[in-house]
Amino acid sequence: MPTIFSKIIAREIPSEIVYQDDRVTAFKDINPLAPVHILIVPNKEIPTVDDVTPEDEGVLGHLFIVARQVARDLGISESGYRLIVNCKSDGGQEVFHLHMHLLGGRKLGRMLPKSE
Ligand code: AMP
Repeated sequence: MPTIFSKIIAREIPSEIVYQDDRVTAFKDINPLAPVHILIVPNKEIPTVDDVTPEDEGVLGHLFIVARQVARDLGISESGYRLIVNCKSDGGQEVFHLHMHLLGGRKLGRMLPKSE
């Protein structure tokens, strides 16, 4: 079964795509946590970071190149931003198609609340 992100990449379901090339697609998160919240996704389905192999090195590096470009295009490269990749249950991953969150447009504060 294709993931929901594969359907977005194939333009089978609607999404606000801000960048796409033959390796990577970037689109607006449907439930934004900041004024800018973009998901940057390899077009190839890699379920989690735990499934990454050496042959993925190129596309994973490309995620950062695209993140930098999208951040510039959306006007947050000077103020800064946060890139997050969640992995599996404890990481809070909900969609099992590896993706990078690009968050910015406001002060994001601490990455995590202090543990109890
Ligand atoms: P994660 O918890 O790291 O797996 O993040 C999954 C993200 O995908 C969440 O921030 C969701 O809001 C987002 N999301 C889920 N479905 C869609 C969709 N159809 N279009 C855009 N973003 C989505």
